[in-house]
Amino acid sequence: MMNERDDEHLRDACGVMGVQRHPEAARLCYLGLYALQHRGQESGGIVASDGQKLVRHVEMGLVADIFDKAALEPLKGSLAIGHVRYSTAGGSSLSNAQPLLATTTHGTLAVAHNGNLTNALTLRRQLEASGSIFQTTADSEVLLHLVARSTAPTLREAIVKALRQVEGAYSLVFCTKKELIAARDPYGVRPLALGRLGKAIVVASETCAFDLIGAKYVREVKPGELLYANGGGVKSFPFAQSPRQAHCSFENIYFSRPDGLIFGKSVYMVRKELGRQLAREAPAKADLVIAVPDSANVAAVGYAEESGIPYGLGLIRSHYIGRTFIEPKQSIRDFGARIKYNAVPEALREKRIVLVDDSIVRGTTSRKLVRMLRRAGVRAIHMRISSPPIVGSCYYGIDTPTKKELIAATHSVDQISGYLGVDSLAYLSVKGLLKACGGDQQRFCVGCFTDQYPIPLMDFAKKDVRPVC
Ligand code: SF4
Repeated sequence: MMNERDDEHLRDACGVMGVQRHPEAARLCYLGLYALQHRGQESGGIVASDGQKLVRHVEMGLVADIFDKAALEPLKGSLAIGHVRYSTAGGSSLSNAQPLLATTTHGTLAVAHNGNLTNALTLRRQLEASGSIFQTTADSEVLLHLVARSTAPTLREAIVKALRQVEGAYSLVFCTKKELIAARDPYGVRPLALGRLGKAIVVASETCAFDLIGAKYVREVKPGELLYANGGGVKSFPFAQSPRQAHCSFENIYFSRPDGLIFGKSVYMVRKELGRQLAREAPAKADLVIAVPDSANVAAVGYAEESGIPYGLGLIRSHYIGRTFIEPKQSIRDFGARIKYNAVPEALREKRIVLVDDSIVRGTTSRKLVRMLRRAGVRAIHMRISSPPIVGSCYYGIDTPTKKELIAATHSVDQISGYLGVDSLAYLSVKGLLKACGGDQQRFCVGCFTDQYPIPLMDFAKKDVRPVC
């Protein structure tokens, strides 16, 4: 038995959703989480309030499997928040599944978090030293303890006080019996959007969650802003300012769905521009442009448009792979890649191809795909990557392998090209990435491409500490 772990991509850590003032809040949350499933597939959960009490349901697994009729039935009321999650090594357990729930002096409070706090460990040690007992290893629990201990006169002020003590990346939704609260870190690392559905207020990591429930996008939750909705509309409370922003550029490259808006722009248009920019920076003599589906499809369309080389479907991806599958007893070469992708020899035979992918993490799957394409009869493979080489880990909420596992951190482009067995290999430049995203290094984070990080790494600057979301 082998794990169908996607070793060729960084994995997003979480997606969040919140709904207020709607009689079917939990069901809308469920649908929103379904649309956000690509952001986390290990666990999911919803907390709902009927105005009297908060009810929580969390489980390991996919949203559609977790929430059947029986699971949704107790989640009554017009207010709900939800969460989907990936975990990093060692962090995968039901106790870490969110939303987390806690009792504070201001009443019961639930929280769902997308991101990663860079000083969570230090704060946790301080809190433990003064008597706090933690139930999970999730850093969002630190926030709950800070709120619970706060002497601020109102919940909103207690949350603001807590947020001012944490560092790192966070897009958060909280709910109490009657209030929905959303907040985003001052750098705006992870996305968080505000929408409306009639009188209902909705917040979600990505706007595709709004589309599924028929909600209208209003705007992004601003970096350093707390939105507070208690039934009488939404109020905005800026709580912190940052001299710069640090939107995660990888959201545009890979994580976010192309049918949504991120950081105020269409992901589809930005992703296509990444492909166009790549074609300008790294042209190739070829007969056909193909993508490693599905995540590189849009960048490949951009590359084809800019280069004038026809776009075709040379690789087909299966969408029906379970989380685990039985490997044949007699080993089949490249079995892991074959079960996910298959080549179309009729589209590829005797062609010189540009193979576009969004990133290379370890390189193992890319190498297998190259072998597959050779078997299908291609004459030459020019691999083009619509992101710069990944040379460092992410500390802001993305599950990244250790630096020594990142092929570009330890090998030159020529060495990687040789390892993959391609005729040529080129990556998008950092400058090209920022240009396509429509910003500069004062607006976007490119930390994993430059090993220079915009938010202090705090705990992670210590040698043996790895990010755990
Ligand atoms: S380090 Fe990379 S993945 Fe992490 S926030 Fe920055 S750009 Fe995104």
